[in-house]
Amino acid sequence: MTATVIDGTAAARHLHDDLVREVKALREQALVPGLATVLVGDDYASQAYERRLQQLAEGLGCYYVSARLDNEAEQADLLALVGGLNADPRISGILVLRPLQPHHCEEDIFRMLDPGKDIEAVHPLNAGLLELGRPRFIPSTPASCFYLLDHHLRLSGIDTDAFYARSCVVVLGRSNNVGKPSSLLGMQRGATVVSCDVNTSKAGRLREFTRQADVLVVAVGVPGLIQPADVKNGAVVIDVGINPVAGPDGRTHLVGDVDPSVAGVAGALSPVPGGVGPITDVWLLHNAVLAATLRAGAERDDPTLGRSAWAASAHYGGDLAWGLKR
Ligand code: NAP
Repeated sequence: MTATVIDGTAAARHLHDDLVREVKALREQALVPGLATVLVGDDYASQAYERRLQQLAEGLGCYYVSARLDNEAEQADLLALVGGLNADPRISGILVLRPLQPHHCEEDIFRMLDPGKDIEAVHPLNAGLLELGRPRFIPSTPASCFYLLDHHLRLSGIDTDAFYARSCVVVLGRSNNVGKPSSLLGMQRGATVVSCDVNTSKAGRLREFTRQADVLVVAVGVPGLIQPADVKNGAVVIDVGINPVAGPDGRTHLVGDVDPSVAGVAGALSPVPGGVGPITDVWLLHNAVLAATLRAGAERDDPTLGRSAWAASAHYGGDLAWGLKR
């Protein structure tokens, strides 16, 4: 068997096209979504992410602000910066880029975010809504995994509801930003979900679980962890890992957590690069647009505003009425 390659770039284009229409419709109602990124220090990957988001936001006709502090900035400076962005009516969504510095308390900064602008759902209120199956914002990476998966199923002519109802989704990795919310999204789609972490590997039981997976989502950060013998024939494999490794030419390449030879047993496989990655940036902007429409809907007492932006999230179990409650 040679796995179908799940094309994340094409799926991202699809989502982007929807977003272009959405922003155009909002601008016609004098609403301009605004994104702010908060970057502390000079982390290379965060700066690259920030540049991509700026390009994307401005290309869509959104307002964009890059808020930067240096490594030495105190926690109080960071809290004040977030407070200012909370109060700025031009900003609908705020992303605090990680990593922060060791002297910063991430939790307190997330708690400071206006939940209505918290587009990565890191504030406890939004994380809780996701856990309850009533998400307002779905964090970009787990959302992208399932957006990609749905896109693939639809292209293959498979009924998504029936597929999830009969499927076992195994998620490797249990981080708050990727693994855990991915497991929740799998449950909300009606799948049987198994969550594995480093303890599963240490106990020597990883393969026992991965081989049961109809869908295997791998988000651990260990290059090539998953080999063909770990995968059930015909399974759909979503590789979230992004690992920089030195190639034979001495240059740094990005590889996933899944060895490419898994294509010999899987039914479909999302590649790295070109799988989940391209969708995450667009999804974040989608959330900023959703935030703008929900805010305007609440201010104008018009729950129909933002209905189409909400549709993509509602697909994951959210509902507009809950989204309007801040
Ligand atoms: P993380 O916070 O380091 O979490 C890694 C998780 O994997 C933890 O739950 C850890 O278990 C588990 N783990 C580590 N080694 C394992 C092993 N050998 N077997 C089973 N589980 C193991 O990382 P993250 O932020 O979730 O990111 C995971 C990967 O996704 C990274 O490569 C990251 O670069 C990538 N990523 C990609 C995107 C994208 O847009 N494509 C976005 C975000 C992250 P414990 O909890 O027990 O430590």
